Amino acid sequence: MPDTRPDPDIRVFGSPHRYYQGPGALDRLPAICADIGRLPFLVVDADVRKLVESRLVELFAGRPHQVADFRGEVTVNLMDELAGRARAAGADLVVGMGGGKTLDVAKGCAIRIGARFVSVPTVASNDSPAASALAVYDEHHRMVAVESLGRNPEAVVVDTQLVAGAPAQFLLAGIGDAIAKKFEGEGSQAFGGLNAHYTRQLRTGAYIANGCYETIRAFGEQAMAAAGSGVPNEAFEAVVEANILMAGLGFENMGLSLAHGLTRGLVRTPHVDRAPHGYHIAYGVLVQLAAEGRSDAYIVDLAGFYKRIGLPRSLTELGLDEATPDVLRAIAENTAVAPKGAYLVVGYDADALVAAMEATEMRFRNSAGESA
Ligand SMILES: [Zn+2]
Repeated sequence: MPDTRPDPDIRVFGSPHRYYQGPGALDRLPAICADIGRLPFLVVDADVRKLVESRLVELFAGRPHQVADFRGEVTVNLMDELAGRARAAGADLVVGMGGGKTLDVAKGCAIRIGARFVSVPTVASNDSPAASALAVYDEHHRMVAVESLGRNPEAVVVDTQLVAGAPAQFLLAGIGDAIAKKFEGEGSQAFGGLNAHYTRQLRTGAYIANGCYETIRAFGEQAMAAAGSGVPNEAFEAVVEANILMAGLGFENMGLSLAHGLTRGLVRTPHVDRAPHGYHIAYGVLVQLAAEGRSDAYIVDLAGFYKRIGLPRSLTELGLDEATPDVLRAIAENTAVAPKGAYLVVGYDADALVAAMEATEMRFRNSAGESA
């Protein structure tokens, strides 16, 4: 494990050792695994396994390996159970293959047996694949802890043909999660927050977070047009890189702030709680911009992009019937008092959060009539 003693003068930047992206990249997986360990333990999303089973059998023919299905929630029990099986198999490398939860449960398995880790995301819906952190939940979908591999994945393998075959909503959620990195990094720095290495930020992280934002704004619409088609175009490749590589590097090396903090309240709000994480974050960005006092033109410009690609701009667009003062207060209190990692600083008290949510709701209350 790396030394995590805070030292204001020593700044740390982390990243995966190798990143592979393109149509057919999965074909490289056996050779990549062989370079890292002797016996890979593959934790594969149960639905994804149905799609790739024959390909995996062919790719790993004659190579020692074990495959386990995953379905469900990232709980301590499940991670312990998978770790027991991986240990019994003698695995020295864990591969997670699927969406964010599959990658996180596989990371937890790798931590428990002290193995190296390889990410194979099959959707671009979140920032987990390149990151060392994983979110642990209870059986009721409540986040209970954040664990860390202590190092980034040895490799991230993104087969964009697979990713482009997934329903478009996954890419959309990933855009919501990724577009926040620039604003959250700036927020974290402004409030003296640390990055995921428990140090102050190097400039590189800010450049990456900015590049993530610019890539999404430049290619977002075209990428969404290709999402779900199974045929990745250049815009799709660009946004997948932003959603997975730039977003992961951006948040771990910059830190998180209000947009992610707000999810602690949103996951406890009926009708809103089950919306994808990336939709929560997209909404949280608009609240953060309101809290920061950004200009109306700036917020309306970003919200216009949301509307064009289908991201929610308000609690009502997230599924709430009516954003009553009680609901706003409950979200704000949960956000302001929630336990945070050292690299998540909310920076605003509950009153300021209520005001920012009210302003956002007023601005985008009438989703049908809003021209933004
Ligand atoms: Zn996120």
